Amino acid sequence: MADTKKVIVIGGGIAGLSAGIYALKAGFEAEIYEKNTIPGGECIGWNRKGYHIDNCIHWLTGTLKGTELYDVWKTVGALSDDTEYAKIDSFYTSTYNGQKATLWNDLERTQRELIAVSPEDEEEIRKFIQNVEWSKQCLFPARKPMEMWGIKDYIEMGKNMADFPKVMKEFGKISLEEYSKRFKSPLLQKLMCDYLPKSYCAYSFLVSYATMAMGNGGIPMGASLQMSLRMEKKFKDLGGKITYGKGVSRIILENKTAAGVELEDGSIVSGDYIIPTVDTHLLFGRMLPETYMPKELKEAYNNPKAYPATSGFQVAFAVPVDFNEGETIFIDIDPVEVGSSKFDRMYVKSYGYDNIFIKDGRQVIQTCITQSDSDYEYWKSLSKEEYAALKDRLTAEVEARIVKAFPALEGKMEHLDSWTPLTYERYCNAYHGSYMSFVTTPEGKQIKMKGTIKGINNLYVAGQWTNSPGGLPVAVASGKFAVQRILKKNGRDINI
Ligand SMILES: Cc1cc2nc3c(=O)[nH]c(=O)nc-3n(C[C@H](O)[C@H](O)[C@H](O)COP(=O)(O)OP(=O)(O)OC[C@H]3O[C@@H](n4cnc5c(N)ncnc54)[C@H](O)[C@@H]3O)c2cc1C
Repeated sequence: MADTKKVIVIGGGIAGLSAGIYALKAGFEAEIYEKNTIPGGECIGWNRKGYHIDNCIHWLTGTLKGTELYDVWKTVGALSDDTEYAKIDSFYTSTYNGQKATLWNDLERTQRELIAVSPEDEEEIRKFIQNVEWSKQCLFPARKPMEMWGIKDYIEMGKNMADFPKVMKEFGKISLEEYSKRFKSPLLQKLMCDYLPKSYCAYSFLVSYATMAMGNGGIPMGASLQMSLRMEKKFKDLGGKITYGKGVSRIILENKTAAGVELEDGSIVSGDYIIPTVDTHLLFGRMLPETYMPKELKEAYNNPKAYPATSGFQVAFAVPVDFNEGETIFIDIDPVEVGSSKFDRMYVKSYGYDNIFIKDGRQVIQTCITQSDSDYEYWKSLSKEEYAALKDRLTAEVEARIVKAFPALEGKMEHLDSWTPLTYERYCNAYHGSYMSFVTTPEGKQIKMKGTIKGINNLYVAGQWTNSPGGLPVAVASGKFAVQRILKKNGRDINI
C-alpha cells in the first residue's frame, strides 16, 4: 500500500528533481524547495540579446539505450526513445603550432590520423586507442546504490568489465599531465590535457572519450534547460509540489531526527524524510552543524591540492553561422592573466548544431578558461569595481585571441555575456564556483558517500558532491539512490 509520508527535497537541480520523481513513484508525497526561480541548478541556460546560451551539457553520459543510466534518464523524463541528439562526430579538436588533431567518435579514424600527425608516437597511440576501447566497458551502475549490491551484482560487473581493470591498473594513479608526457609530439601532449583539468586521473579521460566513442554521451537537442524543464514537468505530472525563490536556511533536527526545514523567510515546513541535494559545504556548516560532516569530506575540503575544485571564466559571442572549425576546438593563446595564474589554452565551442542557438544567420560560440581554487580566491578578493574591470579586460582579451586564431571572425563577433566562478557561487551556492564535485586526482581518494549521516535519522543526502567527480550521471542517480535508501530502511522493495 502507498506510504503517504512526506519527502522534502532541498534544491531543484538534476539530483533534486530526480529525488522528487522517484519519491513520488515510491508512493511518497514530495515537495522540492529551490532558491532560484527556475529548475535545473547547474543544468540550465539563459537568453541574451535574443540568443540562447547553454550552461551545461557538453556530453550526457547515459544516452545509449539498454544501459542502466538510460533507464534512469527515461524514468525522470529527461530522455525518451524519440529524443534527438546533436549530430556531432568528434569529442574535440586540439591545435598547436599550426597542427591539428581530433578525437573522432570513430576510434580507427582517430588512430590513423594521430599516427599521421606523429609517427614516432605510433606505439603509444595504439595503446591509447586500445585502452579507450577497453574503457567502453566502464558503464555507470545506476540500478541501486553499491552498498545494496550482492555477490551476484559483483559477478555480473566482473563479467561485463573483464578488461577495464587493466585500464585502472595502468591509468588509475597517474595524472593526465604525467600521462601526456608519454607522447613525444607537443600537439598530442596538449590533446591529452586539454579537456579535463590536468590533475585528473588519466583513466577519467579515457572513460570520457570511450563514452563519446560508443554513442553513450550524446547531446539532446533543445539545450540543457529544456531537459531540466522536462524533468520538472514529470515531477509535477506525478503530483509533486515545487516552490521556487525560497531557499532553505537550515534542517530542523528533533531528537536526532531530521523533521523539517526552515526557509530563508523564517517559515517552517515539516516532513518525514529530508533529501538535501545542495553542495556539501553548504549542507554541513549552514544547514546542519559542521560536526556532522563525514571524515572523508572534511579531509577533501582541507586538502585542495589532492582534492581540487575547478570552475571557469566563460564568454559567449554571436558569430556567423558558417564559422565551422569543429564543434569544440582548443587553441593556443597568448597568456591571459587572472591574479597570479597564467593561461595559455582555451576552447571555442560552436553551437550551430542546434537551431535553438541560431538567430538571423548567426550562431552562439562559447569559450572557457579553466579556473582553480586559487583563481576563485582571487576573484573573491576583488572589489565590485575591480571584479567588473577584470571581467571586461578578460572578455576583450579572449575576443582578441579568438580573432587571432580565426582571422575570418574579425569585426564579426558580438559579445553576449561573460561569467566567472563567482557567478556559479551566487547562482547555485557552488563551492568555489565549481560546477562539478572534487577532481579525482592520483593523490586523493574518490568520494563515495553512502548518503546517510551518523547521528541523524531520516536524512538522506544526494547531489553530485556525494560521489566525486560529480556530473549529471552522479546527480540523477543520487536522487534515485536516496529514495531507495529510504525504502530499504522501511523494509520495502527498492525496485522503482
Ligand atoms: C559549464 C558547465 C558544463 C557542464 N558540463 C557537463 C557535461 O557536459 N556533462 C555532465 O555530466 N555534467 C556537466 N556539468 C555538471 C552538471 O551540470 C552538474 O554536475 C549537475 O547539474 C549537478 O546537479 P546537482 O543537482 O547535484 O547540483 P546543482 O545543479 O548544484 O543543484 C543544487 C540546487 O540547489 C539549489 N540550492 C542551493 N542552495 C539552496 C538553498 N539554500 N535552498 C534551496 N535550494 C538551494 C541550487 O540553486 C541548485 O538548483 C556542467 C556544468 C557546467 C556549469
